[in-house]
Amino acid sequence: MNYYSTNNQAPIADLHKAVVKGLAEDRGLYMPERINKLPQEFFDNIEKMSFQEIAYTVASAFFGEDVDPDALHDIVYDTLQFDCPVVNVKDNIYTLELFHGPTLAFKDVGARFMARLLQYFIREEGVRTKEKGEVNVLVATSGDTGSAVANGFLGVDGIHVYVLYPKGKVSPIQECQFTTLGKNITAIEVDGVFDDCQALVKNAFMDAELNEHMKLTSANSINVARFLPQAFYYFNAYARLKENVKIKKLNNVKIENLVMCVPSGNFGNICAALFGHEMGLPIKRFIAANNSNDIFYNYLQTGKYEPKPSKQTLANAMDVGDPSNFARIYDLYGKSHAKITSLISGATYSDEQIKETMRACYKDSGYILDPHGACGYQALVDGLQEGEVGVFCETAHPAKFKEKVDEILGIDVAIPERLAAFMRGEKQSVAMSKNFADFKAYLMKQ
Ligand SMILES: *Cc1c(COP(=O)(O)O)cnc(C)c1O
Repeated sequence: MNYYSTNNQAPIADLHKAVVKGLAEDRGLYMPERINKLPQEFFDNIEKMSFQEIAYTVASAFFGEDVDPDALHDIVYDTLQFDCPVVNVKDNIYTLELFHGPTLAFKDVGARFMARLLQYFIREEGVRTKEKGEVNVLVATSGDTGSAVANGFLGVDGIHVYVLYPKGKVSPIQECQFTTLGKNITAIEVDGVFDDCQALVKNAFMDAELNEHMKLTSANSINVARFLPQAFYYFNAYARLKENVKIKKLNNVKIENLVMCVPSGNFGNICAALFGHEMGLPIKRFIAANNSNDIFYNYLQTGKYEPKPSKQTLANAMDVGDPSNFARIYDLYGKSHAKITSLISGATYSDEQIKETMRACYKDSGYILDPHGACGYQALVDGLQEGEVGVFCETAHPAKFKEKVDEILGIDVAIPERLAAFMRGEKQSVAMSKNFADFKAYLMKQ
């Protein structure tokens, strides 16, 4: 499969190049040249298939031309060692729980899949740095990306990961998820803010001497290998809902009127859902749920895309003022505002509304929402029409935002064992100044 850039000014790339480079030369995002439709019998029998079986079928449609079938099978089954259940919250509103992976957030799937695909290509082509015989991934994080990437790449031989994070600016729960791992993961605690971490990574990619010394790559969320696998979730949502309807004989649930609602920040997750729709997944319409960062919401209303500086909110993994994957959605629908608005609607919520939603949902149903999922739930409460059934993504386990959730709901959210295990681990990190010369000197010694 060939990949072109959304800016159309870069050479066509194959999957290997698209994964290693992440961003095209013209700073556009890579798009597959074709989106293969899946056959009708797949959808007719999907409720009898497991999450892993469904994902392998979907992965084959995307990556089957470029990856050996057995290797792809291995990558998919290694990535998905957990479930992705659909749970009824209230009336005709269901949630797709995307938080059963290693770091309890949906980014786990993309991160692990990318790690294993990169490893496959490294092995396949024998691409190794001369001295060390490995590829080095640099990632700057303000919290969640670092934990998903670190855990996704943990123990994957041939790849070393350096996670740069701002000292004192990451919550203890987040910090322990990438500082306690050891093995091929090195946490670097930068005496600065997130932007300093990002600047160090950018400078490293541009430094000729450093790139001569070691092979560097990024694990950015716009990477095709990180965002496309998220489509697996949506096929599974359809399958599990269909299964539920059949087993429980829910005659009032009309699966053909399925509305999918995705709490969105950089719009990678919803973009993967839209790719699924292009492959034939029968979803009637989509809702992009936002916090008060309302750039996409405004685009839907006005047809104008106007990026703004991001605002800090309770749902901080969605604090994005210029969502990168907008370029992919725009390209997918031929830049047509009419097409986009006919399929996708929006919603935007303030911190006050998020809190109210969390309280109301807990009181009505006992379900504990995290602040991101709360935007999705409320968008369905407000936007679902007669005869429709809604599924919203719960993108992170509420315990990941324990301090906020406890305070808002007046409860003591139980910490899952997986998270508790991270918290018992011993923190190991390398202290670093924010000066590039220091960071470079450190890497040159590796
Ligand atoms: C990353 C993230 C989001 C936003 O997902 P996008 O793909 O960037 O739109 C939502 N919720 C949580 C918990 C996240 O970590």
